[in-house]
Amino acid sequence: HRGKQAQQDLLFYSPEMNQRSMARLKLSSELHHALERNELKLFYQAQYDTQNTRIVGAEALIRWQHPSRGFISPAEFIPFAEETGLIVPIGEWVLSEAIGQLAQWDQAGIKLNRLSINLSAQQFKSNLTDLLLKILKQHQIQAQRIELELTESMLMKNDEATLSLLLKLKAAGFSLALDDFGTGYSNLSYLQRFTLDYLKIDQSFIRGLPDNPGSAGIVNAICGIASSLNLRLIAEGVETANQLSFLQKTACDQIQGYLLSRPIPADEFAVLFTRNLEHFQPNQTQ
Ligand code: C2E
Ligand code: MG
Ligand code: MG
Ligand code: MG
Repeated sequence: HRGKQAQQDLLFYSPEMNQRSMARLKLSSELHHALERNELKLFYQAQYDTQNTRIVGAEALIRWQHPSRGFISPAEFIPFAEETGLIVPIGEWVLSEAIGQLAQWDQAGIKLNRLSINLSAQQFKSNLTDLLLKILKQHQIQAQRIELELTESMLMKNDEATLSLLLKLKAAGFSLALDDFGTGYSNLSYLQRFTLDYLKIDQSFIRGLPDNPGSAGIVNAICGIASSLNLRLIAEGVETANQLSFLQKTACDQIQGYLLSRPIPADEFAVLFTRNLEHFQPNQTQ
C-alpha cells in the first residue's frame, strides 16, 4: 500500500506538495539530530492511589524542545517517528533515560516504587527483553519496578510471537499495562489470553464523568471486566474533583490526571513526591 501511496503522490504532485514533503524531510533530519543535540526530555506524571491519593508510581512522557519551533508534542512527532523508523533509537533512549532517572532518584532517597514507560509497536520485538535487561543491569534496577505500557494494536495480532514475547517479559518480572483501553480493538479475547497486570481507562471515558450516563456506564463496565479478570485499573485524564469522587466509589485502583499533577520535569517531580510522602509519614521526613 506504500507503493500505491507513492503512485498517488506522483499523480497529484504539486509545488505545494513538494513544500510539504520538504518540510517532512527537514523534520525527519531534525528529529534524527534531536537525540544527539539533547533536545529530547522526559517529563514524569504522578500516578496516585485512588482512595488516599498517595503517589504509587509515575509515567515517563517524552517532550521535544525544538530550537526554533519550540515545544513539539509527542502526539505530533511520535507517529512521525514511527513512520520513519526513528522511533527505534528514540525508544531506546527513552528506556535508558527513564531507568537511569529511577536509579538517580534511588540514590537521592526518592523511593518511587514504579515507573511506567510507553512502548511503540516497532519496539515490541523479540529483542526487547534483552535490551531492557541490559539497561536494568547497568542501572541496578529490578524489572518489578518497571511497567511497560502497550497499546491494543500491539496485541491485536493475537499470535504466538506476541504471546511468547509477553510471557518472556512477564518471566523477567516486568509489569504490563494496556494503555488507552477501550479506544482500539473491540475483540476482548486477548484480555484472557495475555497476562496483563493493568488496564488504563482512556481519558475519553473519564472526560464525561460523572454526569454523562454513557461514560459512567462504560467506566463501570470496565471496572467489572477488570475485577473478573483480576486486572488492576488506572484512570487517565482525571481533571476534576467530581471525576475523582466518582472513581473513589468504583473499583478503580489508581488515577492519573491534571487534577493532582501534570507531567513535570524530574527535579520538580522529586519535590512533588517528597511533599506527597510527608503527608503520609509526617515524622519520618525532614
Ligand atoms: P498516553 O501514554 O496515553 O499518555 C497520556 C497523555 O495524556 C499524555 O499526553 C499526558 O500528558 C496527557 N494527560 C495526562 N493527564 C491529563 C489530563 O488530566 N487531561 C488531559 N487533557 N491530558 C492529560 P502527552 O504527554 O502529550 O503524550 C501523548 C502520547 O504520546 C502518549 O499518550 C503516548 O501515547 C505518546 N508518548 C509519550 N511519550 C512517549 C514515549 O516515550 N514513547 C512512546 N512510544 N510514546 C510516547
Ligand atoms: Mg501511556
Ligand atoms: Mg493513555
Ligand atoms: Mg496514547
